[in-house]
Amino acid sequence: MSDDAERKMQFLYALRSKGVTDHAVLSAMEKIDRGPFIRGYFTDRAYDDMPLPISCGQTISQPSVVGLMTQALDVSSRDKVLEVGTGSGYQAAILSCLARRVYTVDRHMRLVREARAVFDQLGLTNITAFTADGSFGLPDQAPFDRILVTAAAEDPPGPLLAQLKIGGIMVVPVGQSDTVQSLIRVTRLETGYEYDELRPVRFVPLVEGLGKDS
Ligand code: SAH
Repeated sequence: MSDDAERKMQFLYALRSKGVTDHAVLSAMEKIDRGPFIRGYFTDRAYDDMPLPISCGQTISQPSVVGLMTQALDVSSRDKVLEVGTGSGYQAAILSCLARRVYTVDRHMRLVREARAVFDQLGLTNITAFTADGSFGLPDQAPFDRILVTAAAEDPPGPLLAQLKIGGIMVVPVGQSDTVQSLIRVTRLETGYEYDELRPVRFVPLVEGLGKDS
C-alpha cells in the first residue's frame, strides 16, 4: 500500500474510533483531501487528527470534530446549508458533498479568497463563499435547512435562529469561555426551538464585524 493510502486509512480509522460512524459523512471525508486547505509548514500534518493554524490567526478544526459536527447536522441531498466561519474552507467542502447548496461566510476576506481558490481547484461548484459578519446570517439566501456555526458564540445568534426553516437544524458551539464550550444542536419546531447539548468542544470565538483585511 502507498504511504498516502495508508495515511488515509489511518485517518478514517481515527474518525471512526472518535465516533464518526455515518457512512455518507465518512465517504465525504474520504473524498475531500484536507491537504489543499492547509498551507506551508503544516501541510504534512494534514492527516493528523488535530487542529492546525491557517491564515489570519485562525485554525482549521480537528477532522474528528468536523465529522461529529457534520454528523450531528444530519444533512440530506436536498438541503440548503449555511456555514458561519469558512476558515480554510474544509468544513464547507465536506458539506458540499452532502448538501444541494452550501453558503459559507467569514469575516476575513483573505480566508474567503483562499477558500474560493481551493473550491475552484477541486471543482466544488455548489459552494458560494461571502465575506460578511456571519452572526447576521445571510438574509438574501434564507431560510436554510441547516446552519453550522464553526466559531463559538455566547448564545445562538438570534438572526441565525430566525433564518432556520421549521424542521431545520443548527449546530453551534456555545459558551462564555475561550477554552471550552458546549456543542449545541438546535431544532426549529412549529412551536419554538428544542436544544440538545452534544459534547464539549473548543473553538475560536465568533467576533463582531469584519476583519481588518476586509
Ligand atoms: N470551518 C473552518 C474553521 C473555522 S475557524 C474550517 O473548516 O477550516 C473559525 C472561523 O470563524 C475563522 O475563520 C473566523 O474568521 C470566523 N469568524 C469568527 N467570527 C465570525 C463572524 N462574526 N462572522 C463570520 N466569520 C467569523
